[in-house]
Amino acid sequence: MVDLKSQYEKIKTAVDAAIHTVIDNTTFINGPEVKAFQADLEKYLNVKHVIPCANGTDALQIAMMALDLKPGDEVITADFTYVATAEVIALLGLKPVLVDVIPDTFDIDVKAIEKAITPKTKAIVPVHLFGQCANMEAVMELAKKHNLFVIEDVAQAIGADYTFSNGTKQKAGTIGTVGCTSFFPSKNLGCYGDGGAMYTNDDELAKKIRMIANHGQSVQYVHDSIGVNSRLDSIQAAILGIKLKQLDSYAAARNKAADYYDKAFANNPKLKTPARVKNSTHVFHQYTLQLVGVDRTKLREFLASKDIPAMIYYPIPLHLQKAYLDPRYKEGDFPVTEKLCASVLSLPMHTELDVETLKYITENVLEFLK
Ligand SMILES: *Cc1c(COP(=O)(O)O)cnc(C)c1O
Repeated sequence: MVDLKSQYEKIKTAVDAAIHTVIDNTTFINGPEVKAFQADLEKYLNVKHVIPCANGTDALQIAMMALDLKPGDEVITADFTYVATAEVIALLGLKPVLVDVIPDTFDIDVKAIEKAITPKTKAIVPVHLFGQCANMEAVMELAKKHNLFVIEDVAQAIGADYTFSNGTKQKAGTIGTVGCTSFFPSKNLGCYGDGGAMYTNDDELAKKIRMIANHGQSVQYVHDSIGVNSRLDSIQAAILGIKLKQLDSYAAARNKAADYYDKAFANNPKLKTPARVKNSTHVFHQYTLQLVGVDRTKLREFLASKDIPAMIYYPIPLHLQKAYLDPRYKEGDFPVTEKLCASVLSLPMHTELDVETLKYITENVLEFLK
């Protein structure tokens, strides 16, 4: 699905040197690379504060802790997402309130959010799924109207640009109260291990986030709140600093591959290619097809026999996952998500796909559909 090896070969000299510098200086934790990357990312995103942490799941958890959400508070998120989004809500004793998504874009359904708001609702977590922004203008309007926090799950969409109807442009994750991202190796900006970050323009919130990520410590050995230990290693920060310079060209490479797929699959009644919205650029974390009347298992097996991986993101809606079963929800409650889980298929998507490979993949998909 990804080719991190070829990508590494192209930046090997810089990456190897940066890793060796950290080792030579033995500044493994909180080294200058962490501060440098944080500053570079703040500049890239045009946001006041980037607070690095250990992974994307921690980012979501720390953000929710910093917003002082209390047990029983309701947090609305999409039923169609990676489990981490809902996991941290439940872990903190908050109540995950799930809503359905839009069929073409996979984005959280804002009308459904509005219906789900109660006096206990405290936050909305839109997920910029597969690399394209959710309908942030509508989400922000709703949040403002009901005085809710907006925690953007931007794990799959770092670098995407959102354009408001008045023409204002902002990077995904810098629009809501706080944005949470992941630097997992296969993410669009991936390190060589685990990593994550939160972004915010709120000075007070940034201070609190920083404190919680560091054992709730305000001054050394003085602990104002219960925190966690969540840091980005210096080696990972050094690698991310190098890869951040490539992020826009990486997104362009992903878009080129997506364009190739789109063209090859256009007008095929058995394949619905991913819709692109006007207000957001797409950074194609995933290229996800919806199959129409196709045996997905057989297609996957056929592709596997040709050494072409294809993955199902995600096979089970959150409300039907054993861990999240809840008497409030039953099968049939979120028909769009349920249908998507049964019909989506993601094809290889990364920065190193050449035309030859794309041709091979698309020809085989079309061969099976004949
Ligand atoms: C990857 C991902 C996360 C979690 O990131 P980790 O770094 O793996 O903890 C959260 N939300 C979404 C949508 C993701 O894709």
